[in-house]
Amino acid sequence: MANTVLVTGGAGYIGSHACVELLQAGYKVVVVDNLVNSKTESLKRVQKITGKALTFYEIDVRDKEGLADIFAKESISTVIHFAGLKAVGESCEQPLNYYHNNVYGTLVLIEVMCDANVRQLVFSSSATVYGESVHAQYSEDFPLGAINPYGRSKAMIEDILRDLSAADKLTQSNNPWKIALLRYFNPIGAHESGMIGEDPNGIPNNLMPYVSQVAIGKLAQLSVFGNDYPTRDGTGIRDYIHVVDLVKGHIKAIATLEGEKFQSGGCHAYNLGAGRGYSVLEIIETFEKVTDKKINYKFSPRRAGDLAECFANPELALKQLNWKVEKSLDDMIADAWRWQLKNPQGYS
Ligand code: NAD
Ligand code: UDP
Repeated sequence: MANTVLVTGGAGYIGSHACVELLQAGYKVVVVDNLVNSKTESLKRVQKITGKALTFYEIDVRDKEGLADIFAKESISTVIHFAGLKAVGESCEQPLNYYHNNVYGTLVLIEVMCDANVRQLVFSSSATVYGESVHAQYSEDFPLGAINPYGRSKAMIEDILRDLSAADKLTQSNNPWKIALLRYFNPIGAHESGMIGEDPNGIPNNLMPYVSQVAIGKLAQLSVFGNDYPTRDGTGIRDYIHVVDLVKGHIKAIATLEGEKFQSGGCHAYNLGAGRGYSVLEIIETFEKVTDKKINYKFSPRRAGDLAECFANPELALKQLNWKVEKSLDDMIADAWRWQLKNPQGYS
């Protein structure tokens, strides 16, 4: 019988793409989501793309009894934990909401997993857990030092999960935790069908959805935040990764958790990035080339809290997860644009 994966936050941007890959890889999928930042339409489309059914529960991960009922009903072998709030600016205005949702939500989830004896977990972490570094290419052993409540909520969860795994060694548990902390760089793009993609609420904070909405005429002009960084063209450099490549990393992580490396348990962090960065101007230029659309932009002051340059060292993921990105920046932009064109109002 196929293994069942519980996907928290499965109706969201990355979660819905993960559901597609999981179903296509032959897993049974159970989604829990409270729909605070998503719609069930994404899950309908996941089933349309794959021709396979999944099970959906509309529930908050902080609802311990509700979650325990799901674990009692479904034979879950692994959890991928995407559920969380993710807007950096909002996290500065509402820190308690972010800690309650992200940190407490994870605590409830792992308590329920303990009770149900399910100890295999893939967690959505983020490159924002890293502190500022003199090297722009980040490796997993670089010091952590998130600078906003969102990033700190991810760093706290990582600490909790590392402590949980360390305790297994002390208690000589015969069913130890197997945990992969996946630190995402900048996921963009959409499924190549154009049926699922990123559907931000209101005005997007992130570069790619902003550029797409300028291209389609929903927004008038892009502000390029800073052109005086010490980078090749003065604008910020990031490691953009196709969302489909990203979710494939999760499938590889599950296989690794079930393999020799994790035989006696463990908790390890892996960067999921391409290992190369593009500047904001390079993104605009490539977008214009791929879509044949002109992007109206102006230079604005730097955005508070932004680094000049940040990209992944993805070697550990290649070595231990047997994963690396396959898609190019042109693919990411073509797929993001197809999603935008086919769904100018997102899922609504
Ligand atoms: P998203 O908002 O599209 O998806 C998150 C999903 O979780 C949503 O469907 C939301 O309704 C659900 N959710 C939130 N709180 C919940 C709760 N308490 N109970 C049940 N469901 C809840 O975001 P995404 O971009 O798909 O991100 C998924 C995960 O990846 C998040 O944990 C995010 O922090 C992390 N991440 C995202 C990025 C990015 O750039 N998108 C980068 C790094 C890490
Ligand atoms: N950026 C920009 N204008 C925008 C949004 C983002 O110039 O409207 C820049 C931002 O300063 C950064 C890059 O684009 O250099 C990626 O920003 P995003 O918010 O997408 O990701 P993150 O800041 O989380 O890396």
